[in-house]
Amino acid sequence: MKRNPKRILIKFSGEALAGDDGFGINTKILKYLADEIKSVIKEGFEVAIVIGGGNFIRGVSAAKDGIIKRTSGDYMGMLATVINAVAMQEALENDGVGVRVQSAIKMEEIAENFIVRRAIRHLEKGRVVIFAAGTGNPFFTTDTAGVLRGSEIGAHAIIKATKVDGIYDKDPEKYDDAVLIKELSYDDALKENIKVMDDTAIALARENKLPIIVCNMFKKGNLLKILKNEPDAKYSIVK
Ligand code: UDP
Repeated sequence: MKRNPKRILIKFSGEALAGDDGFGINTKILKYLADEIKSVIKEGFEVAIVIGGGNFIRGVSAAKDGIIKRTSGDYMGMLATVINAVAMQEALENDGVGVRVQSAIKMEEIAENFIVRRAIRHLEKGRVVIFAAGTGNPFFTTDTAGVLRGSEIGAHAIIKATKVDGIYDKDPEKYDDAVLIKELSYDDALKENIKVMDDTAIALARENKLPIIVCNMFKKGNLLKILKNEPDAKYSIVK
């Protein structure tokens, strides 16, 4: 599919929404993210979003003691992403941004069903589209869902929003001399020590040649700076 240079897919984890609380949704963070996304929309970018569900539940942890099956835990995780999507929808709407949630698992009272053509139409109209319920299948992650949807809508990149400026040669929180790696290949990103996304997500990005931009979305104005390619913008790109 042809890439739209103005179209991006932003992926952030559920944990990002929890902030210091570590669980649930912090509305201040929700509002902050909505403001950041609004500033990008105002510059003419088309924005799709995938949010994780880790602030509520992850399949692997839910299934730890064997009482809940892994697959059921995964469906619970997917449901958690819907909670986050509905919350984000509210925050964007409060900011005056048009937004639709599309779910990979049918729940018509809450969200539209995922229909790629319809999603693209929303984006063209300047609406944000939040893709909820991951890929709709257990054993996947929302990183993979992000790469999948990003590829489907012809995004020019997937933005992996983190709390650091990008990928470093060593942990920047432990080492002062850690160096930001500006560009690396998908194969480099698949190596053990660089956990930018899970292997399935990176392999899918490689196959579809979808660049992964790893950046800090928690510095005000940073996302727009990166998208506008400003010279002092800090990020890492996997391509
Ligand atoms: N999940 C799934 N299939 C998907 C996406 C997500 O089964 O396509 C489940 C899985 O259990 C995962 C949970 O939903 O742990 C929450 O997603 P994720 O861990 O990716 O969230 P994040 O870490 O980004 O907050």
